[in-house]
Amino acid sequence: MAVAMALFTRDLRVHDNPVLAAAAQAAEMLPLFVLDKTICATDYLSPNKAAFLVAALADLNEGLRRSGGHLMVRHGDTVREVCRLVRQYAVDEVHIAEDVSAYSRRREDQLRTQLAAANCGLRVHTGSITVAAPGRLTPSSGRDHFAVFTPYHRRWAQLPVRTPLPVPQHIRLPHGAGSEPVPAATDLTTGATSPELPPGGETAGRRLARDWFREDISTYADRHDDLAGDATSRLSPYLHFGCLSATELVHRSDLSAPGAAAFVRQLCWRDFHHQMLAARPETAHSDYRTRNDHWHVDTASLAAWQTGRTGYPIVDAGMRQLAAQGWMHNRSRMITASFLTKTLYLDWRRGAKHFMGLLADGDLANNQLNWQWVAGTGADTRPNRVLNPIRQADRYDPDGTYVRRWIPELAHLRGRDIHRPWRWHADGVGGYPARIVDHEQAACDFAGIRQHE
Ligand code: FAD
Repeated sequence: MAVAMALFTRDLRVHDNPVLAAAAQAAEMLPLFVLDKTICATDYLSPNKAAFLVAALADLNEGLRRSGGHLMVRHGDTVREVCRLVRQYAVDEVHIAEDVSAYSRRREDQLRTQLAAANCGLRVHTGSITVAAPGRLTPSSGRDHFAVFTPYHRRWAQLPVRTPLPVPQHIRLPHGAGSEPVPAATDLTTGATSPELPPGGETAGRRLARDWFREDISTYADRHDDLAGDATSRLSPYLHFGCLSATELVHRSDLSAPGAAAFVRQLCWRDFHHQMLAARPETAHSDYRTRNDHWHVDTASLAAWQTGRTGYPIVDAGMRQLAAQGWMHNRSRMITASFLTKTLYLDWRRGAKHFMGLLADGDLANNQLNWQWVAGTGADTRPNRVLNPIRQADRYDPDGTYVRRWIPELAHLRGRDIHRPWRWHADGVGGYPARIVDHEQAACDFAGIRQHE
């Protein structure tokens, strides 16, 4: 093949990149990323994501330069830009990673049709964004995807994991392929980023992964739910943008070492949600298993939840962590999501949208389907479970360290007292508000609504 194009999407890395490795086999190749106008116009590209993305693109550019290439960055409609460059450089084959959203499926279909008309091939690479290609595993019932995690995990864990691919040593660009500067985040979106946003890019992601495998993973199985311990990998934004390969992480995990099996199991959750979204793309917006909820509409409660002012310290701490870091601990995500959907009985889509606006790892498959899992409209086999914020706080933040870090107004309350400020300050204290709702009462109402239906 004389000229190939590597069309980067959510695989912004040079290590273990099937798209790049295949395109680099050609005599000449064009590495391209298109800032698609549709994506830029949606809620998806929040200030946090834009900042992470531009850092990842700059880092990818550097990575490609080390092999003699560079990244071409274009703005506009992806299919149109690809076709234009295909004609300009007489590209024979375009390589792209398989993805699962309705948008990416549409993009792939349009590319296939329009490239065929231009006499150019399209090769879609599986195992680039996920470990197992969505649809590769199907249950014996004949369904096209798994709806329950445990049997999926059982099968997934038996799959052979391919060996990670090396960085291409030499990239030869077609004559005249100039580079454009990677845009600034402010060119893409306006608005402030979270002050403690992690640095984007493959280099930062690999450094974090190296430290994770060197030592931190060993306590993961025992401490991943310890809110103050902060003992999870924090690799999620790097996985979302493909600065790290999930396959490589699984490959590097020595399953006999402490913590590794628990960590790899979480990566399986990621694949699980991707295969669900691939099979049911509409679940990005609609219930996976509808129960015809009639969600409350209560803008004041929604605003209190969004701004970390519900009066429930464990909930508010999570929401403040999200705003400050563009990331939230998984246990906090579950507690805050349960509070929104089952204590306040507000629509999961409201919460998912707010998360998407701040999470650097905000991911259609993982965000929407985790929200649905918590809301009881998704894959949870116990859809009516309600997380009690007080019990969760006592269990996962037993001495209140996590809450104390994010809610200094309550720092004077000792130990677990911090989880129940209303016992001492029924009307709030130091600017921290009173409870907007009594959880016990609200959960009873919620159960009543459920029974009623
Ligand atoms: P670790 O505990 O170190 O796990 C390693 C990796 O496994 C993560 O980086 C992630 O890629 C994957 N993973 C872990 N838990 C899950 C899970 N439950 N579902 C899918 N993948 C998982 N994760 C996202 O990547 N993007 C999201 O937008 C997102 N939204 C969420 C919304 C809600 C309401 C909930 C309950 C969970 C959400 N998660 C999401 C899953 C999970 O909370 C994060 O992946 C995790 O907190 C990231 O931190 P970490 O990298 O330290 O995770």
